[in-house]
Amino acid sequence: MRPWKLTCVECATAFPPLEVRYRCSCGGTLEVQHDSPSLPDDRELDRRLASRRDRDRSGVWRYRELILPLEEDEIVSRREGNTNVYRSEALEAYTGVGELFLKHEGENPSGSFKDRGMTVALSVARLVGARAVACASTGNTSASLASYAAACGLPAFVFVPAGKIAFGKLSQALAHGAHTLQVPGDFDGAMRTVQEICDAESIYLVNSINPFRIEGQKSIAFELLHELEWKVPDWIVVPGGNLGNSSALAKGLDELRALGRIDRLPRLAVVQAEGAAPLARAWRSGRPFEPIAEARTVATAIRIGAPVSWRKCLRGLAATRGVVVSVSDQEILDAKARVDGCGIGAEPASCATVAGIRRLREEGVLGPGERTCAILTGHLLKDPEATVRYHTADWEGFETPRANSPVPLGSSLAETRRHLQEILASPPPRP
Ligand SMILES: *Cc1c(COP(=O)(O)O)cnc(C)c1O
Repeated sequence: MRPWKLTCVECATAFPPLEVRYRCSCGGTLEVQHDSPSLPDDRELDRRLASRRDRDRSGVWRYRELILPLEEDEIVSRREGNTNVYRSEALEAYTGVGELFLKHEGENPSGSFKDRGMTVALSVARLVGARAVACASTGNTSASLASYAAACGLPAFVFVPAGKIAFGKLSQALAHGAHTLQVPGDFDGAMRTVQEICDAESIYLVNSINPFRIEGQKSIAFELLHELEWKVPDWIVVPGGNLGNSSALAKGLDELRALGRIDRLPRLAVVQAEGAAPLARAWRSGRPFEPIAEARTVATAIRIGAPVSWRKCLRGLAATRGVVVSVSDQEILDAKARVDGCGIGAEPASCATVAGIRRLREEGVLGPGERTCAILTGHLLKDPEATVRYHTADWEGFETPRANSPVPLGSSLAETRRHLQEILASPPPRP
């Protein structure tokens, strides 16, 4: 028997560790509950950091006692995680936060934090003998699934909203050989479709409704705190779409505290895009959570109106004295220009985090001296269209004050030199 069970977040009914199910009969989502959670001491964790074995080198499986205690040969890993934490004076000035850490989850193998959940979900898919795996996706889940399924030879089906996922992500799904099914409508429709198909065809579903995805994504918190030598920041800030990641962070932090590894919880802030902000709306109005019909935002990764994990997320926010905030698409693009411009770079949804921090500072929720950690969820190259449209000022409805347009040149060397000399003679435009 495996040392965990699946329990319902609503009614606490327990199910066997490897039962293939995503919801309780009461409709509640499930989570993994470990029988005797533990985490090795720093000596052992640091030894694993220096090891050459997949299971130790992976920024997920390094913490396996608290993720999922599997044997080495049961794991499907691409040595995910191990993402860097950056500081940037320019972004500290922009957000008004004195100590801002940026953990770049875009540095995962497929370019987003989804790999942390996918390595666990695909390992379990093999354990349960799945004949195929599937997901609905705003893009990054499909890119990650395609990569991990190819790595372990399982057929993969990805359901994406036609025309609404960024090009980098679509290209990854195709390149890695996933059966890519474009469905009419938006992500929420694709999510309903894939749940029905998976039930009817006995295909293993690896969206974040799958509780093993959440276990893997908890490792963002473990790796971050390990890196910060367990000195708890005041805030951790993430973008919110389906709300799986914020739920995972809250669960991971709670477990670290229960083990005595950290002495308090950071506050969690979830940032949604104004046009896709059902949680922020419920939060502000104090009314019950309600999905919204047609989500809209340039940040396609968080273009979700009916998030699956809203209840888990609210529970995590309550436990961490968290907050929810929404930002406009203009604020997201402004923040992206800054994040990209300082040399770090990330896709639009990730930059909603930085926009949200700036907003929380302006509103006085977040103090100037509070140590804040932003999770940058996906790589700059995921959405080249958003970047190029901004910098060529080809985006009706948006201001692009920091556009850096390409300059067409003729074949004259003298003219090219003159152009460069003019640029070099003028003072640097921005701090
Ligand atoms: C999936 C994703 C999100 C949203 O995470 P949820 O767990 O769905 O809330 C944010 N940013 C990027 C880049 C993503 O891929």
